[in-house]
Amino acid sequence: MRMQLNNFNRVEALREIVFSYLNYAQASISGHRVAAAVFAMRKARSKSQKKLETESSDLFKVFGGCNLEISISTVLHAEAIALYKALSEGYTKIQAVGVTSDHKDQIKPLCGACRQLYMYVNPMTTIYVFGKDKKVRLKVKLRDTMKYPYISRGKIT
Ligand SMILES: [Zn+2]
Repeated sequence: MRMQLNNFNRVEALREIVFSYLNYAQASISGHRVAAAVFAMRKARSKSQKKLETESSDLFKVFGGCNLEISISTVLHAEAIALYKALSEGYTKIQAVGVTSDHKDQIKPLCGACRQLYMYVNPMTTIYVFGKDKKVRLKVKLRDTMKYPYISRGKIT
C-alpha cells in the first residue's frame, strides 16, 4: 500500500500507514508485531524516463512495512522492508521513518541493525516512534541515536 501525497502532514501520513501495516505483521517467533513507514522523496528522473512513465509521479510517498518472521532463519524487520520498498521504487531521498509495535511499552527507536541501514542512506532521517495510543512517544534524528556513528555511504542517488 502506498499513499499518494501532494500537500500533506508528514506525521499524520506516517501514523496512518504505520498502523495499517501492523495488521499484516507475521510475528510467530518474537511474539511482537512491528510496523514501519518511510516518508521519501523520489529522485530526479531523466526526460526519457518521464516519457515512459505511466504511474503517478508524486514527489513524495509513504511506504509501509511490517515484520515478517517467515522462519527461524528468515526474520525481516518492518523498518528494513519499508526502506527497501522506497528505494526500489526510486524514492531514494529518505526523510523520515515511523515505527510502532504492539509491545506494551513501545518507546524505543529502530533496532541497531536497522538504524545502521538507514545511516547508510541518510543519517539525518527523523525517527518517529508511535505508542499504542498512536501518539508520538519519541522524535529523534537518527544521527543523534549514534554515539560513535559508522558512516560509509554508498552511492544512493
Ligand atoms: Zn530492525
